Amino acid sequence: METKMEWSRTRRDLFLKCPRAWHLRYGYPTSASGITEFPTSRRPWDLMLRAMKEILVERLEDLQEGKQWSPLLLEHQLKYSLQKQIKQNSNSIKKRYFEALLRYAKHRFALLWRCRIIRQLEQRKYACWYVLDRTVSVLIGNQRIYASPDLAVLIQNKWHLIRFDMQSAPTKSTDEFEANAMVLWAKNRDGFPQSESSFRLHTIGWRRGFWHTETFQPTKHSVEQSYKLLEYDCKAMLEVHRYARLNLALLPLATTKKTCETCSFRFHCPGGENLAVARQEQTLLELEQQFVSSKT
Ligand code: SF4
Repeated sequence: METKMEWSRTRRDLFLKCPRAWHLRYGYPTSASGITEFPTSRRPWDLMLRAMKEILVERLEDLQEGKQWSPLLLEHQLKYSLQKQIKQNSNSIKKRYFEALLRYAKHRFALLWRCRIIRQLEQRKYACWYVLDRTVSVLIGNQRIYASPDLAVLIQNKWHLIRFDMQSAPTKSTDEFEANAMVLWAKNRDGFPQSESSFRLHTIGWRRGFWHTETFQPTKHSVEQSYKLLEYDCKAMLEVHRYARLNLALLPLATTKKTCETCSFRFHCPGGENLAVARQEQTLLELEQQFVSSKT
């Protein structure tokens, strides 16, 4: 049976930064269901971002039911979620660091609540909108796609699909393709229209001290391009996955040292100690392997 590949923006980002780290995190096969996530400990900063996302979804769900949160409730929920994330990851951090993370989260949250779309939802400007679960995937061909928006808002016969990124990378040429994956997702779910022109896409991400909104109008062509690139990613991931089965030591390492500095596998990977030396050792290994196979 052919292995199903799982695509999400998080997986893609990691794959592009370091195929080896991607394999260690997502590429471990289980006997029953193909690919699964390998448990790792995450950095407290990433846990803070996770806690923020969890609370954002909870707060939006309450907003939908007409419930408003006080600043005190927000602080309590953020604190509880961050404590839970840290506990689940078997991390322990100093009280001062924990409080600093909480302050960051509160600050970002306060600014997020001033974003136009959230203010409009608070003012009950739109009657039809949904908070969606990002863990709900769709199966397209042999690829399982995790590309759900966080919000779908019906504004004047158009579905506005909105994704929140708690921390965005600098803008890149593939941003539009990644956003278009939300249309692929929606077209494969019940209740959404099939025409690309019935959607409008927004990504709201924290970048350099502000929440930035990017907006895209999908077309048939842009969604097709998105699917092609997504297929291309999945093929490349499958290749790495197959290669890892043959020889884990030869999996491509990170493209930059910066990736290794924040990688949760750095204590178990030669790249974490010294990326340049690890690359040299890998080249020697490759040469040795080529020499051995030429002799056989
Ligand atoms: S330490 Fe560097 S090379 Fe090794 S898995 Fe992590 S990012 Fe990749």
